[in-house]
Amino acid sequence: MREQDVFLSFIDDSETLSHPPSGAHQRSWLVLIVDDDRDVHETTEFALSGVLIKDRPLTFLHAYSGAEALDLLRRESTIAVILLDVVMETDDAGLRIIHAIREELGLVNTRIILRTGQPGYAPEIETISRYDINDYKTKNELVRHKLYTTLTTAIRCYDQLCQLDASRRGLAQIIAASNQFILEQGLQTFAEGVIIQIAAFAGIEPDGLVCVSAHSATPTDELTNESTPVDSHPVITAATGRYRHLIQHRLEEIDDPRIIDHLSRCLQERHNLLDERSLTLFFSGHDGYDLAAFVDSSQPLREVDQHLLEVFCVNIALCADNVALVSRLRNYAFVDSLVNLPNRNAFISSIDQRLQEDASQKSVIALVDVDQFAEINDLLGHHYGDQLLCAIARRLAQEKFNHCLIARISGDQFGVFGDARRVRPEMLQSAFTTPFDINGAEHRLSVSMGFARVDPASQRGDELLKDASIALKHAKSGGFGQVAYYSDQVRVETRERTRLLHDLRRAFDHEHLFLVYQPQLSLQDRTVVGVEALLRWRTESGCFIPPDQFIPVAEQSGLIVGIGYWLLRVALHDAVRLRNAGYRGIRMAVNVSAVQFRQPTFLDMVEEALRDTGAGPDDLELEITESVAALGFDYVGNVLRQLKNWGIRVAIDDFGTGFSSLSYLDRLPADRLKIDRSFVSALDSQQPGARIAEIVITLGRKLGMNVLAEGVETALQADMLSQLACNDAQGYYFGKPMPLEDLLHWLHARPGVSS
Ligand code: C2E
Ligand code: MG
Ligand code: MG
Repeated sequence: MREQDVFLSFIDDSETLSHPPSGAHQRSWLVLIVDDDRDVHETTEFALSGVLIKDRPLTFLHAYSGAEALDLLRRESTIAVILLDVVMETDDAGLRIIHAIREELGLVNTRIILRTGQPGYAPEIETISRYDINDYKTKNELVRHKLYTTLTTAIRCYDQLCQLDASRRGLAQIIAASNQFILEQGLQTFAEGVIIQIAAFAGIEPDGLVCVSAHSATPTDELTNESTPVDSHPVITAATGRYRHLIQHRLEEIDDPRIIDHLSRCLQERHNLLDERSLTLFFSGHDGYDLAAFVDSSQPLREVDQHLLEVFCVNIALCADNVALVSRLRNYAFVDSLVNLPNRNAFISSIDQRLQEDASQKSVIALVDVDQFAEINDLLGHHYGDQLLCAIARRLAQEKFNHCLIARISGDQFGVFGDARRVRPEMLQSAFTTPFDINGAEHRLSVSMGFARVDPASQRGDELLKDASIALKHAKSGGFGQVAYYSDQVRVETRERTRLLHDLRRAFDHEHLFLVYQPQLSLQDRTVVGVEALLRWRTESGCFIPPDQFIPVAEQSGLIVGIGYWLLRVALHDAVRLRNAGYRGIRMAVNVSAVQFRQPTFLDMVEEALRDTGAGPDDLELEITESVAALGFDYVGNVLRQLKNWGIRVAIDDFGTGFSSLSYLDRLPADRLKIDRSFVSALDSQQPGARIAEIVITLGRKLGMNVLAEGVETALQADMLSQLACNDAQGYYFGKPMPLEDLLHWLHARPGVSS
């Protein structure tokens, strides 16, 4: 009896499977028998029944022709060994499919054992080496112990090849993962990446994984210059599956003591913990952060995976340092380190992100600019300015702008972006009504604001910011504390202002600016007590541009400093001419803008102009507006006192139209109050405000100041002002502003004026 026949009688047909039940080969070795003789299949399987190789059973797959075998191999790539008959439908059918297995299907790890009934069919040596054939057996060697030995050798070899493969793939994955991590933007994304990678290594779903971070040391934070205390409460930085909701919670809030225990031990003992059902990996960071990741694993990890995970941990720890570094660099690039708000770049990209999420939203961008911040900085020092900016940042970041994006755009400009119902002028203004407390002293601020609405034409952060800054320029051109919304008209006007500034520079250089003088009279005896110097600009085409239009442009650009110095000298020069023409007791009143006033060289400039022109201090009166109060009483008070000491008079111009009014009057040592013409014109027209002139006159007198009414246009106004005991007046009723030659004629023609 042939050897294989001995076994045939024991075969149970039901165990002959052409495909294993699903999942059956998960932990067993797959062995494929390819033979056109059914008996060989049965004998082989029977001979090997119950055998364990490396603690794992065998699962047999069956194919009865070369074509069938290839078909099966196409679907099943984890076959460890193929027992392959050489002679089937053709004499070399078996040899032909080897080529397909290795070259076409790329199954290089699968071991192949050739079998043949006749020794004469042994393959060529060349074939054996070329196709990596493990063994060659005749079919009469199918007895159990011989098969067992052959298969054990082949399976060991297969397993080693697979492990090598896995570690090669694992290393490639580590390198890819590292590259990706370096690009990650923050610890949370990084930690999520770690979880996904671990899951991929362990061959499990990224579910039920937690990653926590904890401070390991007390490093110094370069941004805040504060040392971070040791954190005894690790925080869940990333989590997946059923733990997802725990992100940003503390570790102790996980309702599974086993996980808490593993993670805490891992962080404390600073190494990986592996057990049957879980692995907890430790990632040491050099930058103050350690990471630990917990993975719930239903099956024990293979040794090769454990080694790879060690490599992974070391590598990831290095990456974590890089992430921290990149985060800090990003911080430097996107966070304003003084006020700790996002900067311009961050603001733009956050707006873009919001608009991408929902472009339909009714959002508005606002640019808030502190009026006269440069002056505050110059006068009170940069440290004071910094404190003020931080206080503003805190105000804006307060609750009422909760859902808005807040950023510092540049020096004294802040950006606010959010819902149109929230980002409104009144809302923002109200954030500035309460004075700021700087070192225990109150500081009132006025701000100018530019707004732009999100619309189909402006859908990008940078465009919106540009629109808002055009609107802001427009607002500022109207003076302090103004607001403007962007519109096409505003854009055109802003462009015109830019052109105006350009033309003004030319006009100044080409001496197209000149002064006119408007008389100021005593209401009591109608004598001329002074003249106010007013600037005029006649363009090359001969038309006049009103100072109300070009002075603000000159102020904003700083051009007013040069113009102001020049006109002070011209005015004083003309004052000397008046005196020389015999008109005594006529003071020259010169307007001084706050921009000039805050120049550290302001006093020197006045002194120099007096000296160079030969005018005396009592020839000069300087008109300042209430807006200089924003420069701070200490500074303004000092300058005014110095002027007074020299004998120069100071008038507060346009009184009542500014923002701080009465509260500071007795703190500014001025000589004269000029009632704005809006109150004067209200006098005889029953308009509201008529009583204000009266109140201001009373107030001025009480404070020991001379009071002058501006813009007197009628005899009735002059009479009423006289009756109210207003000292002096100026206006078209008495005389319009006129060039010096005309003024000399006008004075000459007046009865009672000494010449
Ligand atoms: P201001 O200093 O209050 O000057 C008074 C303005 O009222 C002048 O306008 C003057 O022409 C005008 N005015 C005088 N009497 C009457 C009147 O009876 N009725 C009416 N409707 N207006 C009258 P102007 O010259 O157009 O100047 C406007 C503003 O421009 C000035 O207001 C001042 O703030 C500024 N400004 C003018 N010249 C200078 C200057 O040399 N330096 C600076 N810094 N600002 C100047
Ligand atoms: Mg004036
Ligand atoms: Mg005025």
